[in-house]
Amino acid sequence: MQHRLSAEDRAFQQEMRDFFTNRIPDEARTWHKDGEVDPEALRIAQRAMHDAGLAVPHWPVEWGGKDWTELQRHIWRTEMQATGTPPPLAFNTNMIGPVIATFGSQEQKERFLPPTASLDIWWCQGFSEPDAGSDLASLRTTAVRDGDEYVVNGQKTWTTLGQFADWIFALVRTDPNAPKKQMGISMLLIKMDSPGVTLRPIKLIDGGHEVNEVFFDNVRVPADQLVGEENKGWDYAKFLLGNERVGVAPVGSIKRKLADAKAFAAQTKTAAGTLLDDPLLAARIAELETELMALEVTVMRVAGSSHDGKPDPASSILKLRGSQLQQDVLELITDIAGPASLQWQPIDGVGEWAAESVPTYLNFRKASIYGGSNEVQRSVISGGILGLKG
Ligand SMILES: Cc1cc2nc3c(=O)[nH]c(=O)nc-3n(C[C@H](O)[C@H](O)[C@H](O)COP(=O)(O)OP(=O)(O)OC[C@H]3O[C@@H](n4cnc5c(N)ncnc54)[C@H](O)[C@@H]3O)c2cc1C
Repeated sequence: MQHRLSAEDRAFQQEMRDFFTNRIPDEARTWHKDGEVDPEALRIAQRAMHDAGLAVPHWPVEWGGKDWTELQRHIWRTEMQATGTPPPLAFNTNMIGPVIATFGSQEQKERFLPPTASLDIWWCQGFSEPDAGSDLASLRTTAVRDGDEYVVNGQKTWTTLGQFADWIFALVRTDPNAPKKQMGISMLLIKMDSPGVTLRPIKLIDGGHEVNEVFFDNVRVPADQLVGEENKGWDYAKFLLGNERVGVAPVGSIKRKLADAKAFAAQTKTAAGTLLDDPLLAARIAELETELMALEVTVMRVAGSSHDGKPDPASSILKLRGSQLQQDVLELITDIAGPASLQWQPIDGVGEWAAESVPTYLNFRKASIYGGSNEVQRSVISGGILGLKG
């Protein structure tokens, strides 16, 4: 494997670095603070990327994609994350966009893909239900066909950023008598302001509001908002979840956080100098840097292997290691902050980073659960990659 970038790829990297450093308005970079996401920051950043043709490089060229290599996409993503730019909204660009582009009708493509790429429509993901998370196919929300409409009843949960969403892509049960529970599921596109949709916030341990419950009470959905074919929703969901997992190994952001950790350690005085001089801490940083490098190489190998709607099971490795490393680095920052991390509001003598360290660490505990819990990823790896029988 080639470990150095070619001259061409280095030029591309510089182009991306210049773009993300100079063309993303600074106010967009502080998009995630105290466990809260600033929707306006996300819109500003995604529009700037969209205007430059850089919001959806992995989509078909016809719909705004670029014919880039996997390495170029990796460079794009890493340079974006390294500058603190919020990534294009994953629900739009990694999840429903590619599903509509692959399985949607021509009318749906024309209607939804341009505003999905520019974030003029904000999507949320309506898959999980109170008794259907890991065992997603047990979902109970029903959609019953009535003339040109479906009538939807049920509940979704953990709907991330649903409070900002214009639309939800939801899995619904259209055939309760199907021989296998996976076979009776469809995917519907539902407007969040449809009569009968209500949203209830879930308050999180870090103090933030990021997830919600969504209730459907006799919601009428035009039948042309069905994606693909009725009862084929499970296929589209599997396609989507594979893409979701590739997107959850945030190498660039982990690098940035690790660089921050070093800077914080260097400014934390000890009797013998600064924390950065401490051999145990230095060893911990070196170990994390090595593991991050291994993850980065794996990301590059996996990202290219999602073919024909069949995601590479190795994307589960990225989900698993990406979430673990991210948590390890955030834990390191909390340890560097030491007793100062107990203070959640900035006060004199306690840096803002130290006050934010615990809420941020707690917030990212979520990464072991969403996108398919890490225990389930381990099962996928043991069965799908190692061929072990469970
Ligand atoms: C912060 C956050 C944001 C989320 N955002 C969204 C969203 O926007 N849209 C959406 O649809 N969903 C979202 N989810 C839901 C998420 O995908 C589910 O929480 C996840 O799939 C786990 O399902 P569950 O919570 O029902 O846990 P369960 O499936 O009940 O699992 C509970 C525990 O049992 C373990 N377990 C379950 N089955 C197995 C098994 N077969 N083998 C071994 N261990 C197992 C799990 O790993 C877990 O530790 C979000 C979740 C979180 C926490």
